[in-house]
Parts: sequence; C-alpha cells; structure tokens
Amino acid sequence: MSSSALNTVTLEQPGQFRHSGTRLPDAPGPGEVLVRVLMVGVCGTDLHAFEGTQPFFSYPRVLGHELAVEVIQAGDGVEGFKPGDRCAVNPYITCGVCAACTRGRSNCCAKMCVIGVHTDGGMRERIVLPAKQVYKCERLAPVLIPLVETLGVGIHAVGRAAPMAGERAIVVGAGPIGLSVIEFLKLAGAEIGVVEKMPERLGFAAKHYGLQRHYPSHAEARQEEASMLVFDCTGDRGSMEGSIQLLQQGGKLIFVGLINDQISLFDPDLHRREATILASRNSTPAEHHRVLDLMESGEVDVTAWPTECAPRAIMHERFPKWLHREAGIVKAVIDWA
Ligand SMILES: [Zn+2]
Ligand SMILES: [Zn+2]
Repeated sequence: MSSSALNTVTLEQPGQFRHSGTRLPDAPGPGEVLVRVLMVGVCGTDLHAFEGTQPFFSYPRVLGHELAVEVIQAGDGVEGFKPGDRCAVNPYITCGVCAACTRGRSNCCAKMCVIGVHTDGGMRERIVLPAKQVYKCERLAPVLIPLVETLGVGIHAVGRAAPMAGERAIVVGAGPIGLSVIEFLKLAGAEIGVVEKMPERLGFAAKHYGLQRHYPSHAEARQEEASMLVFDCTGDRGSMEGSIQLLQQGGKLIFVGLINDQISLFDPDLHRREATILASRNSTPAEHHRVLDLMESGEVDVTAWPTECAPRAIMHERFPKWLHREAGIVKAVIDWA
C-alpha cells in the first residue's frame, strides 16, 4: 500500500478547504474503474456547501460531482474501457429496487447517493468509481465534460414539461441550470423567454439564444402574455412564489431550482389556471447518455457559455467569487490535472 502526495481538497467546514496528500486508492475491484481526475465543475450544490446553506450536508466532505476523468485501470469483469479513455461521470448512485427506480425514475431514487455530495467526490487526483457510472467521451474537450451533468438537469426538466413545438415558455433564472433548460427548449422548438435580474446573465442569454422576450424582473415579464410553461431555476423563494403569475391558464409550472424552506401559493392563483406544478430533480442515466450524444455531435454546444477554468492551486481564492456570482461568470470549472 503506497502513499503519495496525491492532492486531495477537503471542505472541512463552511468556508474552509484543506489541501492534503491522500493514500493512493487501491486497485479497482470487480465492476470498478480507477480513474485520474481531469476537471471538476463547480455548481450550486458545491457553492452552497461552501457557504454552509446546503440542506442535509455533512462535513468534512471531498466535493466534486461534475467530473471529467481518464481511465487508469479497469477492474475484473469491466469491459469497454482501456487506459487513457476520457470519460464523463454520472454521479447519481441509485438503489435499483425502490418505487422510483423500478418505475424508470431513478433520478428521484429514495436512497439517492450523489458522489461528491453524500459521499466523497472527485476533488482528488485519483478515485475508484463503479464502472456503470462512467461514460466514455470520444470527442468532447475535457473542460466541457463536467457540463454533461449540468445539462442533464436541464434535459430532465424539459422532459418533465414535454413542450410542443411553438409552445410559449419562459425560463426564470439564467445561471447554468436556466441556460441548460433553454438549450433543450430550443431543441424542442419552443418559443422562449427569459427573466434574470443580473444584467450580464440576462444579456448573454438573450443574445446567445436570440431571445426576443427578456426581462430583468417578474414585474416586467408580467406585462406580456403569460406562458404555457414556466421554469423556475432560481431556488429563490420570492421568485418561486411569484412564478405562477407568469403562467397561462392550463399551463405547467416546473420548479427546477430548489430551496430548503417552505414556499406558499395563493390557492385561487393555482385553481383559476388549473395549473400543473412539477418538481424536477437530477436526471436519469438515459438522459445523461442523450446529453453526451448531443454534445459530441455538436447539436448542443456550450463552448460560448461564460466559463472560467481555474487551476486547482487558486480554487480557494476563487470560490467566494463564484459564490457571489462575480463578473458574469456562469460556470466555473477547476483544472485538476
Ligand atoms: Zn451539479
Ligand atoms: Zn432507488
């Protein structure tokens, strides 16, 4: 058992990362792969864990659930991987036997275990993973691979809403999740609007996706005709409680962003519209594969998203800036290699 100065970054408690060496992982067991971590995407979950506001989160924790990895060694019985293969990681480990899993809805497994959230993740040089969680990427640049997970959240939310071509939709919040929803609404041929209070984010979404309907607030969006589909991607209580005002009669309101708090609605707002309210959580393996295919074929191309790729050495300085959504950066990725 050799030890080595393998760099692991542990979130000891809110606001405090610790860099350390770690024991080299053992060889992969049957059904596992040993991988080198190339890139780690930073998302709301990581930022909230850093801030200390992530619900049901325990410290210390090695973060990192949006990963680009490279195969070092495959364990017994694992086929289709060779050293050097570049891969995305599906971080959602599910039980396979609960009511959700047996109905094809493993994204809301009752025993959901997310790598990098409920168990230690990829902020280290090497990690052993179940081979079934690792998906080969032939063409995608390493910096884009962590976004497979982010976009998975978007494809799932749009799938929940099942938009028809030409259907009027509006997306509230133009961070990485809002932009992911917009990508798949665009593929579905929906007629898209956006609400976002940060001017840089609103400007990027409107310009990049050519959206005619773009508003800095709910109040301004309410001036227009209501939408059949409203996606709230904010995780902000005021926004989530107000989004129903943007909804057309008979429409669907999809809560993609989440909050660890009560939200309340005025029942006549709900009943008058006969609104359908949907929550959207994570994504399924099939959706993960679909996102990967669409990214590799170029049908979904997020290279223009305002992304910062920072070396590992400066991540502790950058985290507070990302948390406070500085300078129009929509997505942060840490170069771990
Ligand atoms: Zn994420
Ligand atoms: Zn399950």
